[in-house]
Amino acid sequence: MTSDIEIAQQARILPMDEIAAKLNLPAEALELYGANKSKLNLHKLRLPADARQGRLILVSAISPTPAGEGKTTTTIGLGDALQRIGKSVCICLREPSMGPVFGMKGGATGGGHAQVMPMADINLHFTGDFAAIAAAHNLLAALIDNHLHQGNALGLDLRRITWRRVLDTNDRALRQIVVGLGGKANGYPREDGFDIVVASEVMAILCLASSLADLKRRLGNIVVGYRTDGQAVTAGQLQAQGAMAVLLKEAIKPNLVQTLEHTPALIHGGPFANIAHGCNSVVATRLALQHADYVVTEAGFGADLGAEKFIDIKCRKSGLRPHACVIVATIRALKYHGGQALSALPQESLSALKQGLANLQKHVENVSTHYGLPCVVALNRFSQDTEAELALVQACMAEQGVKVVLCTHWADGGAGAEMLAHEVVRLAAAESTMRLVYADEDTLWEKLRKLATAVYGAADIAAPAQVKAQLQAWQDAGYGHYPICVAKTPYSFTTDAAQRGVLAGHTLTVREARLCAGAEFIVLICDGVNTMPGLPAEPAAHRIDIDDQGNVSGLS
Ligand code: ADP
Ligand code: MG
Repeated sequence: MTSDIEIAQQARILPMDEIAAKLNLPAEALELYGANKSKLNLHKLRLPADARQGRLILVSAISPTPAGEGKTTTTIGLGDALQRIGKSVCICLREPSMGPVFGMKGGATGGGHAQVMPMADINLHFTGDFAAIAAAHNLLAALIDNHLHQGNALGLDLRRITWRRVLDTNDRALRQIVVGLGGKANGYPREDGFDIVVASEVMAILCLASSLADLKRRLGNIVVGYRTDGQAVTAGQLQAQGAMAVLLKEAIKPNLVQTLEHTPALIHGGPFANIAHGCNSVVATRLALQHADYVVTEAGFGADLGAEKFIDIKCRKSGLRPHACVIVATIRALKYHGGQALSALPQESLSALKQGLANLQKHVENVSTHYGLPCVVALNRFSQDTEAELALVQACMAEQGVKVVLCTHWADGGAGAEMLAHEVVRLAAAESTMRLVYADEDTLWEKLRKLATAVYGAADIAAPAQVKAQLQAWQDAGYGHYPICVAKTPYSFTTDAAQRGVLAGHTLTVREARLCAGAEFIVLICDGVNTMPGLPAEPAAHRIDIDDQGNVSGLS
């Protein structure tokens, strides 16, 4: 069988000006990175006279298995299908993190015959955005330690510095470290640690900022730690935001590439879908909506996490409104949620499948009832799926009045998602009916309660006394209107990854809270969430190689 990277390497690739022309983008806005990738200079983009007001299609999913269920692949396949049926379309995706590329999951450029190109470049350093984000983040860290070394005029409490360092590699050894060892010349020893770049607040800021000016304002608002009297200290007080924004001046420009079928795709930003909001940048999504009639975008993980944050954080803050939602489901993940062992997923099991359908039903309920969006289930077909299994999903969901469309874009490209495209066009015809799960005015604790009971099916919420006190302190300090960003396992509606199926009556316990005053949300971290992943026993890095002619192999 041809691998993803072989399919991508054999594909014909069109010159970037032809791709830009499909979106009516002026040639002078293109800043090429090699022949097949381009940044878009926002200052050279004037709103075209015939500016579009595109329909925004959100691609979300059921709770995944650790392998991923095909959201990115379906986002690309749907984009290609919309182009095939004659629509003007732009795809908006997130940039892949090198953590999963060399770790377990692999890249994030789709798969089979639904991919974006150039596959290897996008999965590796792409246009350098992640390196720029890491540089800006780590510059702030260096300024903090230098400030301590130079006399600590701001009175930062060494024990309450919350700004860590970042690296785009899964490296568990760096989770907790001590910096400043080696004597007086090396600063003050203190506990520190590394997160992966996608977990950086700078990444979230880049993805939510509406302009360069807004980016700089948000960078200045980052809280880096606290003084001994409890007062927050910001990046602005350290005079960091100007230099950080300079490091991000290219990263804020969206990246334009194409799919295997030459559909334009803006791949920009890649925040974690748990510790951050997990969506393509506001700048890129907005740009796409002005230049295409249909914009297809992906949010991370399942609809309980990614779609919720897309709506309650990205849309709430930017004014963007999705018109319809696609919920990607796979037979293998449904069986997994029905209790089938990971190793037995390729085998038919109608009983596990039937039980697992409860997961899909809860996500459909969340999207239609709590987010107010019309939705369709895209059943992403894998070769081992049996006819009996496919029929069972269709029959059970039809009973509930939910449309299920069988999609074969992984095997057949855009042609395999044309039925989905027609359904999406139908659903997106009306004005957006999107609803927020909670109101700005709700207290932080009320927001968590509404979200946990409505979307996760929890009976109650809990947190240690110091977390509750911290939330109250932020509420009193004027951060109470921020949205919340719940960091929890994507594999279960509960906070325990091993609890499969839909469980009612559980308690959602928050372990830790983090203020992101630049991104303008508050992260509530549940048990089992790690902001610096580790590598698995058999990392993908073992299989990745390059030949003497420079051809890369082993990326998936
Ligand atoms: P997500 O975005 O939901 O995490 P991806 O679209 O990245 O998932 O897909 C995860 C992996 O599964 C990719 O390697 C992709 O090639 C593969 N994949 C997706 N759909 C199919 C399919 N129908 N058949 C086989 N492999 C698939
Ligand atoms: Mg994805």
